[in-house]
Amino acid sequence: HLQQRIHGTTLEINLNALTHNFNFYKRKLKTDTKVMVMVKAFAYGGGATEIANHIQQMGADYLAVAYTDEGVALRKQGIRLPIMVLNPMAESFQLCKTFDLEPVVFSLEFFEQLAQWTSSESHSMKIHLDLDTGMHRLGFEKVHLLDLIPLIKRNPQLEIASIYTHLVGADEEIHSSFSIQQLALFSEMSQAILQNLSYKPILHALNSAGIVAFPEHQLDMVRLGIGLYGVEVTGKYTSELQSISTLKTTISQIKSLEEGETVGYSRKGVMAKPGKIGTLAIGYADGYDRRFSNGKGFVLIHGQKAPVIGNVCMDMVMVDISDIDAKPGDEAIIYGPEISLKELADQIGTIPYELLTNISTRVKRVYY
Ligand code: PLP
Repeated sequence: HLQQRIHGTTLEINLNALTHNFNFYKRKLKTDTKVMVMVKAFAYGGGATEIANHIQQMGADYLAVAYTDEGVALRKQGIRLPIMVLNPMAESFQLCKTFDLEPVVFSLEFFEQLAQWTSSESHSMKIHLDLDTGMHRLGFEKVHLLDLIPLIKRNPQLEIASIYTHLVGADEEIHSSFSIQQLALFSEMSQAILQNLSYKPILHALNSAGIVAFPEHQLDMVRLGIGLYGVEVTGKYTSELQSISTLKTTISQIKSLEEGETVGYSRKGVMAKPGKIGTLAIGYADGYDRRFSNGKGFVLIHGQKAPVIGNVCMDMVMVDISDIDAKPGDEAIIYGPEISLKELADQIGTIPYELLTNISTRVKRVYY
């Protein structure tokens, strides 16, 4: 609460809700299916170290970050779980080695570079293979296997810790036949690699939505992201997850305005009748999207909806509180258990992932 009085805006993270969501997914899995938790992008905005720490205590098996420096930061905070790096840069091999991070290898060129570096330094390293079964983002395609397999055999210093693929739309029913094709291609490609190995890497394909949509394809491990953070993207079990984060801000000032008076930059907000506006201590620099301008967004003040009026500013936003009994210093909820992130995201044509990951580091995270 002190934090909120100092900065005006805080992101409260409910670690009990995180536990609840983790257990929800654990119940969908076989007892021996491992869980990799995605803590990339500051753990979807929730704070990577604190979330990783909590999830480490809960018994997650693996963590994943997008970039090497995200993994280094976790190691420096004492996180001990194995960490996969989804999109490492070639310049970060030494950091991966020093901080015991496991890079994903997604192309023949990258494999060769890493193989060369590890053999010249007499290092061994655990790596992960990303197979492209239709996402067409990163990863080996089927045609690459012919060259990849001999490379793997020639470089035993590179131990394949896991092989995985990523589904393009596990949360969208219209793409379920494409997902099934992806899973079949993954099975074929991964088996071709396995046949040439004397040990068995972990196989994984499913993200949060995949766990719900294709539980029979959970393989050895799943990669849990958005669901852990409280958003059930398939919509099937929405009420069974708990929101883990509440973004709260404070009313700095209240003004009474006449009909026709305008609010904020470019006079975009116009009072339709005499009323009151509240100026809130959050803006687009905090991650409150500017697309929420002029009625696209709303906040909750004393449980009542207050629509945004005018353009969202860098550090502030004004809301119409004509029908709300409020005073400066009162709290406004930007989102939290009472507000669906999915609906908010829909309002501005985006997805909950973007809302969560956009909250800037200037907003303090408070854990309870
Ligand atoms: N696996 C990969 C490769 C990803 O890039 C992501 C997130 O974008 C995930 C898993 C987790 O997905 P979700 O947050 O939908 O569970």
